[in-house]
Amino acid sequence: MQDLKNARRKFLRQSAIAATGLIFMPTIISCETRSGAPSTSTAPAAAPEKTGRKLGIALLGLGSYSNGQIAPSLQFTKHCELRGIITGSPEKVPVWQEKYGIKDENVYTYENLETIADNPDIDVVYVITPTATHKDFAIRAAKAGKHVWCEKPMAMTPEDCQAVIDACTKNKVRLSVGYRMLHEPNTQKFIALSKEKAFGEFTSATSYAGYAGQDPPTDYWRGQRKMGGGALYDMGVYTINGLRYGTQMAPVAVLKATQDRPTDVDVTTEYTLEYANGMTATGKTSVVTNYNLLKIEGKNGWHQMDPMQPYGGVKGMTSEGTVLGPPIDGKQQTLQMDNDALAILNDKPCLAPGEMGRDDIRVIRAIIESAETGKSVDI
Ligand code: NAD
Repeated sequence: MQDLKNARRKFLRQSAIAATGLIFMPTIISCETRSGAPSTSTAPAAAPEKTGRKLGIALLGLGSYSNGQIAPSLQFTKHCELRGIITGSPEKVPVWQEKYGIKDENVYTYENLETIADNPDIDVVYVITPTATHKDFAIRAAKAGKHVWCEKPMAMTPEDCQAVIDACTKNKVRLSVGYRMLHEPNTQKFIALSKEKAFGEFTSATSYAGYAGQDPPTDYWRGQRKMGGGALYDMGVYTINGLRYGTQMAPVAVLKATQDRPTDVDVTTEYTLEYANGMTATGKTSVVTNYNLLKIEGKNGWHQMDPMQPYGGVKGMTSEGTVLGPPIDGKQQTLQMDNDALAILNDKPCLAPGEMGRDDIRVIRAIIESAETGKSVDI
């Protein structure tokens, strides 16, 4: 049985390599320093103390991100593995069971999710559904005694995020947000430069993330405001989180913001944030225009990620011409899940705690308020 499972895993890994061009590297978890590039202090549990046990992951929501990125990435993880599914789409069950060898007893529906409490095979429930549904699913998973990984953006409001944090604390389970960029090695080198203020005191920052799509249809959740659709929640959260790790500061106010909302959701949002040291940051995000840049200016130079958030190929650079490392294809989600699994196994802090997810949603709400009132909004 174990041999069969290993053979299936090997086959799926080979299929994933063929499908995505991923190159399997045995040193997948390490963030080793390359010559001329800074080391990072952000990688948790660099020398894992406990690696013997793999955590069992159950994916809740089998849509495009689960199907296209997370399940394939779980074929490469060393410290966790895909063991269960929780879905509202019965037709997906046989397909996923066949493809990933998921046992009958590890298949759940949204209705019987609570019974996962009795299943020792499952350690973590990874919530990958429309944003407005994250809160309830995450709280139900926590109440069932399972650790929670929650996709970005964490929830609709800071209060909803806090409710998830409280449920996890009360039920003594861990919580991480699916901020994959925090696990990406070139981004970690960029963050190290921010932490040491390699180019002096920060003077300004720029954060852009957008793609040239279309106004999402209103019969799909991405086109529905109440479900968490629109550019600001979907893509803008990368720009806000990028400014957080790029400046190592939290903004104190939204000075101004504008939103282009042709139907129910915004297709483009632009904003200016203010920080306690008086500096400002400019952000823009879109689902109809392409741009991707995170740049931090200091008194003596700058460092940037260009592009800053695609699944592969993010590239860091400084005003001195230093390239922070070769662009890496794929593996962000594999690193993310292995780091988050190690944080649980070794009882260490994770890189993207619920509080970070909540604080980013607080900024999103302030940007919306500023756009709607035309006034600056304290955060
Ligand atoms: P999707 O529309 O492709 O899939 C959503 C899934 O949730 C579907 O299987 C759907 O059946 C299910 N679902 C459960 N409850 C639902 C409800 N009430 N209404 C509608 N669908 C419901 O979306 P996706 O692209 O997989 O995104 C899911 C989540 O993952 C979102 O929070 C999104 O922001 C996040 N995401 C993150 C990344 C990343 O890079 N970290 C990338 C893509 C998506």
